[in-house]
Amino acid sequence: MKKYTVTIIGGGVAGLSCALTLASSKGFPKLPQDFSFLVIDDGKSDLKKARLYNVPLAENGIDGEELLNKLHSQIKKFRNTSFVEDTVKSISGTKGEFNITTSGEKQILSDYVVLATGMHKFEIAGDDFIIEDHDNVPKPGKIKLKAGVNNKIKAGVYAAGLAAGVPTMFACAAGSGVETACGVLSDIQENKTVIHDTAKSRLN
Ligand SMILES: Cc1cc2nc3c(=O)[nH]c(=O)nc-3n(C[C@H](O)[C@H](O)[C@H](O)COP(=O)(O)OP(=O)(O)OC[C@H]3O[C@@H](n4cnc5c(N)ncnc54)[C@H](O)[C@@H]3O)c2cc1C
Repeated sequence: MKKYTVTIIGGGVAGLSCALTLASSKGFPKLPQDFSFLVIDDGKSDLKKARLYNVPLAENGIDGEELLNKLHSQIKKFRNTSFVEDTVKSISGTKGEFNITTSGEKQILSDYVVLATGMHKFEIAGDDFIIEDHDNVPKPGKIKLKAGVNNKIKAGVYAAGLAAGVPTMFACAAGSGVETACGVLSDIQENKTVIHDTAKSRLN
């Protein structure tokens, strides 16, 4: 069975920003030769209800769903990321050998897992998740996952976006997804890692 390098659960702005950063990774010697990424999403991102006037570099009044579509197109240009519409039910295993099960009865193998599941609920079975109140949202019932530096929950598992506790703004969720991607890449590289391209760095 194919094994993904990183599986991202949740395809809102946090999950897609994480995926975009990972997809753009290039030339890292410790990334597996056949590295690949997967985004699993059940299609209920908050962004689909929004019209936005304050997203840096986006046109004022842009529809949230259009922003998600633009992110999908950007990621697809890298050809190393797949997308599945489904709901994740459980995660088991450890770093390097996670087993993810969906309600559509898919079994997915992955080295790393990112939980970009938003603030409304967390219903994925697994034994190491601590669910806390989302202290950036003054409404009852909104949650985040307990995580540390670079949103790391435990070896191989990370949070991102509202699930990591950032304020409910597009740019905060995007930045959190990127931070998580850097955390995962740093773990793989065993060194602090970011991606900084130049005009020449994509030529070969
Ligand atoms: C009406 C409205 C207006 C807004 N206006 C603005 C604005 O003007 N400016 C601004 O900056 N922000 C605005 N926001 C906030 C912004 O949309 C959110 O901050 C942002 O979308 C959060 O992104 P996220 O990826 O963390 O979470 P989400 O967008 O919630 O994405 C999480 C995704 O994970 C999926 N998921 C959860 N569990 C599972 C599972 N088990 N399996 C598979 N998928 C799963 C969810 O269904 C969802 O698709 C607005 C939000 C709303 C609701």
